[in-house]
Amino acid sequence: MKWEGREGSSNIEDRRGMGGRGIAVGGGVGGLLLVLLMSALTGRSPADFISTSAPEDPGVRSGVPENDPQYKFVSVVLKDTEDVWGQLFAKSNRSYEPPALVLFDGATESACGLGQSAMGPFYCPSDRKVYLDLSFFRELDERFGAPGDFARAYVVAHEVGHHIQTFTGLSDRLQSAREQAGRRGANALSVRQELQADCYAGVFGYYEGKRGVLDAGDAEEGLMAAAAIGDDRLQREAQGRVVPESFTHGSSAQRVMWLKRGLESGRVDACNTFENGSR
Ligand SMILES: [Zn+2]
Repeated sequence: MKWEGREGSSNIEDRRGMGGRGIAVGGGVGGLLLVLLMSALTGRSPADFISTSAPEDPGVRSGVPENDPQYKFVSVVLKDTEDVWGQLFAKSNRSYEPPALVLFDGATESACGLGQSAMGPFYCPSDRKVYLDLSFFRELDERFGAPGDFARAYVVAHEVGHHIQTFTGLSDRLQSAREQAGRRGANALSVRQELQADCYAGVFGYYEGKRGVLDAGDAEEGLMAAAAIGDDRLQREAQGRVVPESFTHGSSAQRVMWLKRGLESGRVDACNTFENGSR
């Protein structure tokens, strides 16, 4: 992927290097309880969990860090998603409001609760932010065997795909459907939502190709990453067996198929994973 020397997004909150202080603790009983809980869990002093930064700014570093290729890479990918989705929404006379992306290490607070590295990258619809610990990129390479810059871009684009679902109101409608669906039904809906985010990542990849910023082999890197983080493969590795009804993201084959569908068609309406019979 051609990203060096290109313009990056300014919608990045850099909370790295703040240790436990990445968790800005608000006042009140809730904040105090959280501090005591964190202290009890980790055996560290409660003071370690109290943010020393100004309350209106939970310790966000200002300015773009120098000589930080990973930061630069993520900011360029995020900017590309802003351009691509901005243009797609403009076609239907809508203006796109992009998500912010929070870089953190270890743990950080989000409007969806405490975000932790072990959860992997995630999107929080309540604050419309993507949360990413860059150590996941190394994990993608070393643990999941999916190296390459476009594998990483796919991860960012997938989370932005969830933002698109929120922005268009789909996530809200799904949330109420999930509440009525029972556990098995809720998992099935979750799988379809995840596969659609994969397909949206593919649509993004399609336009990246059209703009000439992809290299040969980039699409394959993305597909390899999608295969590597399928539920069946993760379950087989973690517990030695596969339980399809507990899937929440889809199998490797499904994730590859939907990413590919987006990559090849470049069409948002090709991403209707909710249609009857879609697999
Ligand atoms: Zn997802």
